[in-house]
Amino acid sequence: MNDFRKNKSVHSPAEVARNSIKRTPAEVAREAFKQMAMQSIMPTPDNYQTIYNQIAGIREKETLNNALTQALKKLPHDTIEQRQWINRWEKILMNDDWAALPTFLSETPGIFLTEVQEKVTLNDALNNALVQLPQDTFEQRKWINRWKKILTQKDWAALTPLFSEILADSNAATSKMQDFGLILREMLRHTFEHGLIPSLHDYPKLKQGASEIMMRAEKANELHDWHLIAQAFGVLMERLDSVVVNEDGLKQDLTGLLKLLIDNISALVADDQWVSGHIALVQEIISGPLERTAIKHAEDNLKEVIFKQGALKNNLTEAKESFKNMIATFVDRLGYMASSSITYQEKIENFSTKLAKTDDVKQINSLLENLMKDTYSMQTDIAQSSSELMAQREQFEETQQQISKLQEELSQLSEKISEDPLTGLLNRRGLDEAMVREVSRAHREGLDLCVALIDIDNFKVFNDQYGHSVGDAALLHLAKVMQETLRATDVPARFGGEEFVVLLPNTSLDYAVRTIERLQQVLTERFFSGNNQRLLITFSAGVALFNVDEAQDDVIMRADQAMYLAKETGKNQVKSEIDLLASQKSAVAHTI
Ligand code: GH3
Ligand code: MG
Ligand code: MG
Repeated sequence: MNDFRKNKSVHSPAEVARNSIKRTPAEVAREAFKQMAMQSIMPTPDNYQTIYNQIAGIREKETLNNALTQALKKLPHDTIEQRQWINRWEKILMNDDWAALPTFLSETPGIFLTEVQEKVTLNDALNNALVQLPQDTFEQRKWINRWKKILTQKDWAALTPLFSEILADSNAATSKMQDFGLILREMLRHTFEHGLIPSLHDYPKLKQGASEIMMRAEKANELHDWHLIAQAFGVLMERLDSVVVNEDGLKQDLTGLLKLLIDNISALVADDQWVSGHIALVQEIISGPLERTAIKHAEDNLKEVIFKQGALKNNLTEAKESFKNMIATFVDRLGYMASSSITYQEKIENFSTKLAKTDDVKQINSLLENLMKDTYSMQTDIAQSSSELMAQREQFEETQQQISKLQEELSQLSEKISEDPLTGLLNRRGLDEAMVREVSRAHREGLDLCVALIDIDNFKVFNDQYGHSVGDAALLHLAKVMQETLRATDVPARFGGEEFVVLLPNTSLDYAVRTIERLQQVLTERFFSGNNQRLLITFSAGVALFNVDEAQDDVIMRADQAMYLAKETGKNQVKSEIDLLASQKSAVAHTI
């Protein structure tokens, strides 16, 4: 058969068709005959149809035979079974032996089928796996989508870059994870070593649990390890929570009990001023948040009270005893005197009657003699009882003196509660009392009362440079200079830390500012010696004038604000509340 497709020197019918303008069917038929003749193609109906279709631009219809042949070529020829099966198909096609097809197909082994099935299963499995992968992050979703696309498009070439990308990212994540683990481990170690474990002193099991978690954290590498640690940590925290609730309850119960005791004691000793001072302090301490130093302070105070109370009680018992003795003797004596006087009276009466009845001088003499005797014995009795009484009274007075001396000591002790132990100035409590006193005096007498707040400059640096004990000595030095420089009526007090308050009764604002400035002056003249050198201490201060109707805290607050103004504008100076007002006004003007 002469195939026109092989003849390259002539135009193919398709080229002819493409190059020609639209022809009628008759023209196409003529051209077809011409081409067949020119190319010596066998004039069969099939060949004519093919040439005609090509010239007319009609697409050749795919025959089943052709399609099947092409399909068989594409099937895999890997196994003998596959090749044999394909040969049998080709034979049927070649011989048009369609009658053999039903038998052949029924015998068809599953050689292709199984492979196809397997492929389907793999795809399904991959798809299923993809669905189950975590899709939490944007990155994860992006990768999964890319993978799905590869599967649907079977674009296996894209798989390698995807894998290397995922790998690189997970490496970065791993190193990030390691850093994170290190930080976490460090944090845990600090929390446990310095916070949790020491506080679990009374709970050995919890303590051991905490130590174990810490040890596990030291070894943790994987995220999974941290999951387990987090779980264990959660359990520990739950157990700890119940312990803390328990401890809090216990603490509250104890504080409640202590409060009850103290309240009752204070009710019992309401009349004894010296004790109630101490008790008030203890009440104050337990009403606020509990601090160990404050509790220790309260304990010391109570100890002092108990000791002094014991001493006083002994003396009181002795005094009471001797007083009772004295009264008993007195009553005794009195009774005796009374009875002796009755006897004496009776004797006198007797003597009178006898005297009235008798004229016998001899008898009168004896009567008088008896009377004299009685009178004498009575006199001696009286003298004796009076001297005994005197002695008793002296003893009583002596005891009384001892008691009042003790009471004096106790009230001095009570005053110490109002005193700052370092400087000997009034402390905050003492200042409160003094403030009440001075405010009511100012009210009563209609006089000015000023309040100055003093804060040492850069005292933290001073402490850091020379040490805390030199700092303490500096505070004491300033307190001394204050006591010596201020008027006797002025009241200096330690307000706390390196801050002092001075009450200046009967003093105008101007004068108060000048007084505090003078204090600054004296302080520069009287050097403080510490650390074998002369050290200069300076302070900033604020002064405010007490208004009749305001609360005590308000005037202190204004003095404090003025003091801050002094700090802000250069330190080592004194500012009054008038300066403060002026600066606030100019600040407002500035903002407008
Ligand atoms: P400023 O000039 O702004 O007031 O600075 P400052 O350092 O004085 O103020 P700050 O409030 O920062 O520090 C106060 C320091 O006073 C901190 C503390 O160490 C010290 N201090 C407070 N009370 C005492 C004390 O009783 N003894 C000693 N030695 N130092 C104290
Ligand atoms: Mg301060
Ligand atoms: Mg300061």
